[in-house]
Amino acid sequence: MSIKSSKIMAMNAGSSSLKWQLYDMPEEVVIAKGIVERIGLPNSIFTVKYGNKEKFEKIANISTHELAVQMLLDELIGLHILSSYDEIKGVGHRVVAGGEYFKESVVVCDDVLSKIEELAALAPLHNPANAQGIRAFKKILPNITSVAVFDTAFHATMPEENYRYPLPNEYYEKYQARKYGAHGTSHYYVTQKASKILNRSLHDLKFITCHIGNGASVTAVRNGQSVDTSMGFTPLAGVMMGTRTGDIDPSLIPYLMEKTGIYSTQEMNNIFNKKSGLLGISGISSDMRDIIAARKEGKKEAILAFDMFANRVKKYIGQYFAVLNGADAIIFTAGIGENSAVVRSKILEEMDWFGIEIDESKNLPGVEGVISADSSKVKILVIPTDEELVIARDVERLRQALRTC
Ligand code: ADP
Repeated sequence: MSIKSSKIMAMNAGSSSLKWQLYDMPEEVVIAKGIVERIGLPNSIFTVKYGNKEKFEKIANISTHELAVQMLLDELIGLHILSSYDEIKGVGHRVVAGGEYFKESVVVCDDVLSKIEELAALAPLHNPANAQGIRAFKKILPNITSVAVFDTAFHATMPEENYRYPLPNEYYEKYQARKYGAHGTSHYYVTQKASKILNRSLHDLKFITCHIGNGASVTAVRNGQSVDTSMGFTPLAGVMMGTRTGDIDPSLIPYLMEKTGIYSTQEMNNIFNKKSGLLGISGISSDMRDIIAARKEGKKEAILAFDMFANRVKKYIGQYFAVLNGADAIIFTAGIGENSAVVRSKILEEMDWFGIEIDESKNLPGVEGVISADSSKVKILVIPTDEELVIARDVERLRQALRTC
């Protein structure tokens, strides 16, 4: 019996953007992908890539996520990528925070959507936008399977000693103040892929996965399950990032509030989330490519930002070596992890005591797969992440299982 293929959309909605990929499943073929940027601002940019490297771009004023979804569907028909909306059988949405409610992907019923909105405190920059994307699709295509895939779900396996904060118990019990982690879909994907590359069962393997892009997190994985991760209650914690602090001493918050006279918690949150990290230290940019270029020119703030970034990732790798009692592989993924040989080198510099030896002749731009020396006890892997594929697979799995509201 031949398997009938269906079109599945994977969505990643940000506050002013909508990234999407359209798949033929179960073949896992990307038919088209694109992004709508500057939603709610003048001159929104609408881009579609499809077919044989064809590209469609349009500038328009797109004021809401719903209009963006409508335009996307219309253009898919206009470009003959779809013949009708009915061809889309399911849509999966990336949702950053699932809190303690969601430990796996679920079909989005009304109560699920309200809970996603309720969890905005755990991902203030992301969850409200994710919910907007879901609402927009539900309004236009109410009858297709709609699935939420949570960035926190992969970390649901963390033991309590790792996810609790040493705060008075009642803050956990009353307010769910605990570590949730993020980027779980990506850590999960590279974990699965690494087991295939190494041709070994996940049950025999221990990994330290480094998702380092604009947002960055490091995870300790044993038996294919997350044991600990660097992000925390929100994606602000852990390693230093493009614009986020990562871990700092919490007493700096009241201290800086008093010193600067900024008593708005929202404004403080904004400083830690959007004005810190590589941007805060370099004063140049949050983009690692700019930092690397300025470092080459000898700009001292860029050198410091670069060194601090690598140092924070290195320290988490060290922690997780201890947590896991060693690791079979360190995995690099996301924008910086996939593309920057120089950052990978800096992170793993002088870690030979741990049995980590990078082979610089393999650690090249554009490389994928193993970059460790043959003599390295710990394998070092570069694996391009594919969160959209995980989303599309989950939609297809729940659709085939006939899950509905
Ligand atoms: P996001 O968290 O927004 O999804 P990405 O995973 O796309 O982020 O990563 C963006 C980061 O990757 C930026 O800091 C960018 O500079 C960095 N990056 C992309 N390509 C390179 C490269 N060739 N060298 C160094 N950094 C790179």
